[in-house]
Amino acid sequence: MKYLKTLILFAVFSFNVTAQHNSKSENKQQGNATYVIKNVNVIPMTKSNKIIENATVVILDQKILSINGTIPNNAKIIDGTGKWLIPGLVDMHVHTNADLNFRENSPTQGATFFMDTQDVMTTYIANGVTTIFELGGRVEHFGQRNEIAKGKVIGPRMAIAPMINGGDPNNGGRIVNNASDARQAVRSVKAEGYNFIKAYSQLNIESFQAIVDEAQKQGLKVVGHIPDAFKGQTEKAFVPNFGLVAHAEEFSKQIRNQAKTKKEAQYFAQLSKDNDTWLTPNLIAIVKIRDQVQSLDSIRLMETLKYVHPILQDKWLTSNNYHKHASPEFIDYLDSLITFHKEMVVAFKDAGVPILAGTDAGVSGIVTGFSLHDELALLVDAGLTNEEALMAATRLPATWLEIDDAIGTVEVGKFADLVLLDANPLIEINNTRKIYGVFVNGRWIDNGKIENMLSDLAKWNSEMKNKFKWKKRREY
Ligand SMILES: [Zn+2]
Repeated sequence: MKYLKTLILFAVFSFNVTAQHNSKSENKQQGNATYVIKNVNVIPMTKSNKIIENATVVILDQKILSINGTIPNNAKIIDGTGKWLIPGLVDMHVHTNADLNFRENSPTQGATFFMDTQDVMTTYIANGVTTIFELGGRVEHFGQRNEIAKGKVIGPRMAIAPMINGGDPNNGGRIVNNASDARQAVRSVKAEGYNFIKAYSQLNIESFQAIVDEAQKQGLKVVGHIPDAFKGQTEKAFVPNFGLVAHAEEFSKQIRNQAKTKKEAQYFAQLSKDNDTWLTPNLIAIVKIRDQVQSLDSIRLMETLKYVHPILQDKWLTSNNYHKHASPEFIDYLDSLITFHKEMVVAFKDAGVPILAGTDAGVSGIVTGFSLHDELALLVDAGLTNEEALMAATRLPATWLEIDDAIGTVEVGKFADLVLLDANPLIEINNTRKIYGVFVNGRWIDNGKIENMLSDLAKWNSEMKNKFKWKKRREY
């Protein structure tokens, strides 16, 4: 299944395409509005997670000022009767589109193809995703993060991990093939301003181990693939400071042609537990790959396709590398992964390894924002309780990212990243999709505004359909 990896790598580089149109300028910071949500049921997602019924939640200056405290004057009132308040959701594995150059850099021109930052962030916000972990980090993502911080764009908080890979220099990005280069790459990444590193599949053993070790010395956390070089000796990848595995598939690739049973799942879970390595199972990715290998109708008929940039819609449908490799054997293999990954979720849960929700959003067939709700449903289907699934997208990712003092729970003093739901997600996990409104850094976006943002996006994408074709990308 070497080509599957190659495809995923290709996706990381090639799906970050962009386009140009007028930016939406109404998205300015709206000052220091005070909000009160009255009579709401709060699901705080703290360790005890005791539900606070009929609560009054006050939001001031981007933060939660009080729960069941006094109501300030001049506050905007939101009626929370019969509604449920949860922390803003976190997607721990995304690839967000950003400006890009399909040609060659010139001394005065970096990107040549641009994408409206609001457009790429709207689907996150519409789905209550208020923090993302970008795992194909580039300098352009810093630019997006600044636009959000300035209030020009309504978007999620962004943690950003750039990739370090090995093997052929043409693999692109930072390529290292020995320990000394690996350590220098880590120091460079730190100097560039990143807090995280994504280790990739073609690293050799000494380079991978040197990256993880040097990252620890430099105070950076490492998320990664498990490089192919560890096949047959997976345990050697589990060195201190390897903090997070980015897909359950990283484990199943290590035993590609071997049996994949409960026993193997438990072995991997124990390796992770002993090394304090957490897991983002990323179940939705393989499900979506399987669907598009079987039929491109799975893409064509997607209700959410209209929110995807037209050049990507075109790529997913006319140049789909998964579908190109369709065969009954491939589908059987993907089915076996889907089954094994469910088994892994149970084994990791039983071993006490923290499980995080991440979707690989941005890759073919996986629509940013919407995909998080699919992942939550799949985690529950695999064996997590509804509460555990919510934990995987709230408090636990905040803890892993080391921003749990700022987000991840509904508590006084935390930033007001909140989702107000029409129904209780502890009873039915799909109720996370029933969004009445979202607080993004203290800014209230109700479902009317969400609908407007989404329909604007869909309209523009549809109008531009004939303007952006994947095969013409070199001309842009
Ligand atoms: Zn990814």
